Amino acid sequence: MADVEKKSLIDPFGMTLIEDYEKLFAEFGIQSFKPLLSQMPNPSAAMRRGIIFGHRDFERILEAMKKHSEFAVMSGIKPTGEFHLGTLMTAREIIYFQQQGAIAFYCIADIEAYEDNGISFEESKKIAVNNIADMLALGFDPKRGYVYCQSREERVKDLAIAFSRGVTLATMKAIYGERHMGLYLSALIQAGDILLPQLEEFGGPKPTVVPVGVDQDPHIRFTRDLATRFYGKYGFIPPSSTYHKLIKALDGSYKMSKREPMSYFTLDEEPEVIAKKIFYAFTGGRPTAEEQRKIGGNPEICPIYDLYLFHFSEDDKDVIDLYNNCKCGNILCGEDKARLTEIVAKFVKEHQRKKSRCIDKAREILEMG
Ligand code: SF4
Repeated sequence: MADVEKKSLIDPFGMTLIEDYEKLFAEFGIQSFKPLLSQMPNPSAAMRRGIIFGHRDFERILEAMKKHSEFAVMSGIKPTGEFHLGTLMTAREIIYFQQQGAIAFYCIADIEAYEDNGISFEESKKIAVNNIADMLALGFDPKRGYVYCQSREERVKDLAIAFSRGVTLATMKAIYGERHMGLYLSALIQAGDILLPQLEEFGGPKPTVVPVGVDQDPHIRFTRDLATRFYGKYGFIPPSSTYHKLIKALDGSYKMSKREPMSYFTLDEEPEVIAKKIFYAFTGGRPTAEEQRKIGGNPEICPIYDLYLFHFSEDDKDVIDLYNNCKCGNILCGEDKARLTEIVAKFVKEHQRKKSRCIDKAREILEMG
């Protein structure tokens, strides 16, 4: 643990532990997003609130946005289950860039789900229909998007095969550590996903932004390197990326886990079940109400605060007020949780209502994709 305290750990297939996001700028060469914020034509809430804290080469995307020239957004979600608070973040980022003019590529990462989680393609397909319906309910426009399964997208596999000639086992080990071959294969496939929007069939090379959690940065570095090395054959522009912070688990741990159902909730769960999870969630509150009124709470370690910050408050001022009121002891955790429970229940009910109407369309998109 001593090493971890000094250094961040970024592993797309395993544990990611970030003690201090600022350190990633020096450790991994990620650039701060802050200097670009004032230039963004219409920054998202995640950008304004510092949830999106870093990037690589985002200036290229900014330029395209300002000039209204062609660019793409590409990201993938592993079909391992229902949409939860982490996948919701990625989904919203894809939709945000699509609304800002990007052609959107949404990859159902079923090869990665098989290699990393042992989920069969058939099972992935069922989960994917549900996930696509989530995307549609959240505002994804299929007319300006391309949704596909990795396992059925031949162009992605062809790119992975082409790239494999330029990569040695030593390189894969240096980036991903000692892994089974399937994970190295899935990393090559993901490089194919990220560069797919730049193939001639999709209009050729173009700036492409990949919004991801910071745990996915190794894939971005790997793909940027491949884009440069295969420039001669494809004319690829190295992909840009944005990095969002990872939302805290409800139990106060670093990562939500399926093995710990009380550490997260999904958008398919009953509002009553979610209410219970929020009720039992860890907080940054003090042991007694009296103490909290006297010295205030600690929103920095509080998953309830994260829920407002990441997803459940549209108004920036509301989030700032919550932070200050918590710090000053003007608010107690019980009342804060009760307010959040109502907001989440309203959102989830509305989302489930919209989603139920999108299932047929989602099935159709998956079959056509
Ligand atoms: S008052 Fe709210 S934000 Fe502050 S510690 Fe309690 S639950 Fe968290």
